[in-house]
Amino acid sequence: MTLTDAQLERYARHIILREIGGTGQARLLESHVAVVGAGGIGSPAILYLAAAGIGQLTVIDDDAVALSNLQRQVLFTTADIDRPKADAAKEAVARLTPDAAIIPLSQRITGENAETLLAGADAILDGCDNFETRLAVADAATRLKIPLISAAVGQFEGQLGVYRGWEAHKPCYRCLVGSDPAQAEASCADQGVIGALTGVLGSLAALETIRALVPFGEDAAGKLLIADLLSLRFRTLSLPKDPGCPTCSR
Ligand SMILES: [Zn+2]
Repeated sequence: MTLTDAQLERYARHIILREIGGTGQARLLESHVAVVGAGGIGSPAILYLAAAGIGQLTVIDDDAVALSNLQRQVLFTTADIDRPKADAAKEAVARLTPDAAIIPLSQRITGENAETLLAGADAILDGCDNFETRLAVADAATRLKIPLISAAVGQFEGQLGVYRGWEAHKPCYRCLVGSDPAQAEASCADQGVIGALTGVLGSLAALETIRALVPFGEDAAGKLLIADLLSLRFRTLSLPKDPGCPTCSR
């Protein structure tokens, strides 16, 4: 594809990067990313992905905007309260850029519909708020062979992983968490979360999504980033493939 003059100017700071360039920017414009959850992580992620020129964004969230969301979900404003998040996200992105087509899906993603809703995406960014959905999304991503960027936050801690479990030596999300819903993280409503932390993890998830589309630097699959913002500490663990994993091991 040929970039227009307006696109050459809009994405000039990407295009000048050796790692992205005009070819990488064209690839972003032709890419389709599915974002699961337009919450604390999804909000900044959707804004950065749209600003980066991702051509198509499917936003899957069955929630409506609540007043208590606005402390961190920077995609929304007070006027959006009670509106479906997916629809409000579409309008926010339309104000930002004409280049991103948003497909808003106000429905809950489950083990039954995940593959249908996610098929065709070039990357999946999961920032949803419950373990059951995460597992459904992760298993579908592995079966569909779509890179999964998964981020989670609670209180002052966050984690981020990139998964391509269909590859021989790369783990899937289930290799990390197993199948036990008891491992489910407590919700932000129950335990609280510092708003800016969701911005950090959401932005990192957007960056890793862009890396998955225009590979640059070091591959992030097989690593887990743990951010502890009580003490400004970031650690990266290596994440092995579980040979007994029900999803990705043969
Ligand atoms: Zn696995």
